[in-house]
Amino acid sequence: MEKIIILGSGPAGLTAAIYTARAGLSPLVLEGGSPMGLLAQAARVDNYPGISVGTSGFELMLAMHTQAEALGVRFEYEEAVAITPLPNDEGFSLRLSSGEELQTEAILLAMGASPKPLDIPGKKEFEGRGVSHCAVCDGMFFKGKEVAVIGDGEAALIDAEYLAGVCEKVWLINKHSEFTAPPAILERVVPLKNVAECNQTLPLQILPSEQGKSVGGVLVRNLNTSEEYTIPVAGVFIAKGGGRNPNTLWLKDLVDLDENGFVIAKDGITSQKGIFAAGDLVSGTIKQAITAAAAGCTAAFAIGKFLKNKA
Ligand SMILES: Cc1cc2nc3c(=O)[nH]c(=O)nc-3n(C[C@H](O)[C@H](O)[C@H](O)COP(=O)(O)OP(=O)(O)OC[C@H]3O[C@@H](n4cnc5c(N)ncnc54)[C@H](O)[C@@H]3O)c2cc1C
Repeated sequence: MEKIIILGSGPAGLTAAIYTARAGLSPLVLEGGSPMGLLAQAARVDNYPGISVGTSGFELMLAMHTQAEALGVRFEYEEAVAITPLPNDEGFSLRLSSGEELQTEAILLAMGASPKPLDIPGKKEFEGRGVSHCAVCDGMFFKGKEVAVIGDGEAALIDAEYLAGVCEKVWLINKHSEFTAPPAILERVVPLKNVAECNQTLPLQILPSEQGKSVGGVLVRNLNTSEEYTIPVAGVFIAKGGGRNPNTLWLKDLVDLDENGFVIAKDGITSQKGIFAAGDLVSGTIKQAITAAAAGCTAAFAIGKFLKNKA
C-alpha cells in the first residue's frame, strides 16, 4: 500500500512530490503521456521567478524533475485509467493503462488540462505532416523554410520568436487587431525582420502542397477587406486553442466536477476523502506554472494532514 500516488509530473505534481518526499511520505509519481507536463513545450518561460532570462520550459521542468529525483521521489511512465475506493476508507485501488493495479491511501490529481485543438479544415489531415503544436519540438524540420503561426496570445508570439531564429520567415496569423501579450514580448518579437504580422486575418483552411502529401499553405481571409488569399508555407504551428480540456470524464463518479469538467477543490481538498487536486485541472484557477506549483504545495500540506489524522 502506497501512502500517496501523484498523477502527473507537471509543476503541480512535481511540487507536491518535492513537499511530500521531504515530509517522509515517499510519493510515487505517475507521469502519464506528457512527462514534465505542458510547460516542457514552452520555448521560453519569462514569468517563473528565479530562473535565468531565456530559460526554456523544458529546462525548468527538468530542473524540477531532477530535484524531485534527488529527494527520492519514485517515477513511473504510466497513466492512471480508473480509481476505485477500497472498503472501510482504507484507500484506493488505482488501475494503470498497463493493467497493473496499485493501492494507495491518498491520491493527488495533477493531470493538468490539455489545450482544446483549433478546428480548421486541413488541420487533422496534415497533423505531423506540416501541422504542429510545438515550435520547440518541430521547428527544426522547417529550417530555412517559411512557416505560419496561428494565434493571438503570448504563446503565439513566443513560438514566432523561436521559429524566427530557425526559419526563413514566420507569418503570424491573428484574427484580432492586436496581440494579447505582455509588452516585453511584443517589444522583442514585433521588430524581428523575418516575422510578418497578419492581424485581422482569419485562417480558413490548411492547404496541401503540390504533391498533396504535406502542407503547402494557409488560405486566409482579411477581415477588413474580405479578400481571401493563400500564404504559401511549409509548416503551420497552432498556438491557439479553443480553451482547455481537463480530461476528467473518467473521474465523474468519484469527485465533484464543474460544468466544464474541472475538479472542484478548495486548498487541494476535493469532495472525495483521500483524493486531492492541484494545478490546471482545478476549477477556477489561473492556468500558469507558478499557480500550479503553489497549488501542489498547498495540496501536499493537506495530504500530510490527512495521512497523519488517518494513522
Ligand atoms: C506552449 C505553452 C506555453 C506555456 N508557457 C507558459 C509560461 O511561459 N508561463 C507559465 O506560467 N505557464 C505557461 N504555460 C502554462 C503551463 O504550462 C501550465 O499552466 C502548467 O504546466 C500546468 O501545470 P499542471 O501541473 O497543472 O499540469 P501539466 O503541466 O499539464 O501536467 C499534467 C501532467 O499530468 C499527466 N497526466 C495526464 N493524465 C494523466 C493520467 N491519467 N495519469 C497520470 N498522469 C497523467 C501528464 O502526462 C502531465 O505530466 C504554457 C503552456 C503551453 C501549452
